[in-house]
Amino acid sequence: MQHLPFDNSYSRLPPRFFARVQPDRAPDPHLIRLNHGLAAEIGLDPGWLESAAGLAMLSGRDLPTEVESIAMAYAGHQFGGWVPQLGDGRALLLGEVVGPDGIRRDIQLKGSGRTPFSRMGDGKAPLGPVLREYIVSEAMAALGVPTSRSLAAVATGETVYRERPLPGAVLARVAQSHVRVGTFQYFHARNDRDGIRELADYALERHFPGTGDTGTPYRRLLDEVIRRQASLIARWMGLGFIHGVMNTDNMQIAGETIDYGPCAFMEAFHPGTVFSSIDHGGRYSWVNQPAIGEWNLARFAETLLPLLDATDQESALAEARGALSEFGVAFSAELSAVFRRKLGLDEGRDDDGIKQFIDSTFSVMATQKVDFTCFFRELTRVADRLIRDRSPVSHDLPDTFRELFADPSAADSWFEGWRTHFAPESSSAPPRAVAMQRVNPVLIPRNHRVEEVIRGAATGNFETFHRLVDALKSPYREQPGYSDLERPARKDEVVHQTFCGT
Ligand code: AMP
Ligand code: MG
Repeated sequence: MQHLPFDNSYSRLPPRFFARVQPDRAPDPHLIRLNHGLAAEIGLDPGWLESAAGLAMLSGRDLPTEVESIAMAYAGHQFGGWVPQLGDGRALLLGEVVGPDGIRRDIQLKGSGRTPFSRMGDGKAPLGPVLREYIVSEAMAALGVPTSRSLAAVATGETVYRERPLPGAVLARVAQSHVRVGTFQYFHARNDRDGIRELADYALERHFPGTGDTGTPYRRLLDEVIRRQASLIARWMGLGFIHGVMNTDNMQIAGETIDYGPCAFMEAFHPGTVFSSIDHGGRYSWVNQPAIGEWNLARFAETLLPLLDATDQESALAEARGALSEFGVAFSAELSAVFRRKLGLDEGRDDDGIKQFIDSTFSVMATQKVDFTCFFRELTRVADRLIRDRSPVSHDLPDTFRELFADPSAADSWFEGWRTHFAPESSSAPPRAVAMQRVNPVLIPRNHRVEEVIRGAATGNFETFHRLVDALKSPYREQPGYSDLERPARKDEVVHQTFCGT
């Protein structure tokens, strides 16, 4: 196997799209974890990556001569405020590989030093956020959510200064590309129409190949990006995932979750849940994610207006509005499908009764402060038992389910409602119960577990990190050896805030 079968398409774009940058030399790199499975999946040789030369590349200490590392230019709206220049300030694109599956992917280092886009930052990453991104991105992949992946985490042997000195690390991450809404905004803000056209053509060819049946290619690009984001955000919602920084520069065109910062999975259900320490207004709360997604997509559509119709602005606007109006439709359909599946309700039925039941489930969960993940998984276990034991004798709801409710008696009345919708005697119930196991995880990376890993790593103990990553490879499977990772945080363990750590 060729060690680095790089084929760098982005660096063949015009020079104003990026800056050529060399990473900093990590003083004393140590491999923390290499993702062997991912390496093989994307066509890289895990053996070479673990060698001294591989480690030198993954830490940014020494790049093989054939690597032409670049920092990509982009702009973006951060918390709604316009920033005309952002760009890879602590990330470097090493190159692209085309995997055995034919998919082209970026290999990027995060935390490898300053670039022309670093502004006030040092371009480095502390160990904690690197481990957090590794854990959460790999968990998301195993949960079936489109996401960037983590190829390796490397300790650099360098001290990084934040509020206090911290060990430094580099994450090697993999994504279908790092083209963002903010990349389009960068050229739009400079009135660089050629730039937008080249970028749009690039994105079309890389992410949306195929002839496209309707409309112009640029309308197709807009439609596809909207469709993928609607589906992505619905999946986040179905897992209680809160991205935390849905700035336009963190929204990727290919529809993968990227830029894991203060992201977190909610425990006790409340739609307004926010973890990020800098999200004071709750802009990026769980329930706001679709509205923010739509807002970001409107910013994307604006950049495409000159391509949608170069001569007639009214017609361009009509195209953009037509495309954007599909977001709400697509998102609602996806979300309702996600929760119908989670609750084991018949997918063929999409009547008002079911919609109302799902809404009432959310309000009961909120008033009863029910743990989001345990609720759906315990319900899955209950559904399984109902099906297995088809006796007409009424079943008592197990305490493991009732005790998820602040007032366990509230569980009983909710359950009666659910049973009428679930209808265990219906012939479609068994496959629905099986389907529930595939969408209701046993394990998620709970915040207190991630914090525990980070605390351990700070003292040189990586055991909890490896154990958590191993457990989360099969999040939908009952794994008795990892059952301690299932429970929500105890009162004294609850994590109220998460940090970007930049
Ligand atoms: P984020 O919200 O983490 O995706 O980052 C937003 C912007 O800040 C991007 O342009 C990053 O490259 C930049 N940035 C974040 N942290 C650092 C850092 N430590 N040094 C330089 N730039 C950074
Ligand atoms: Mg970012």
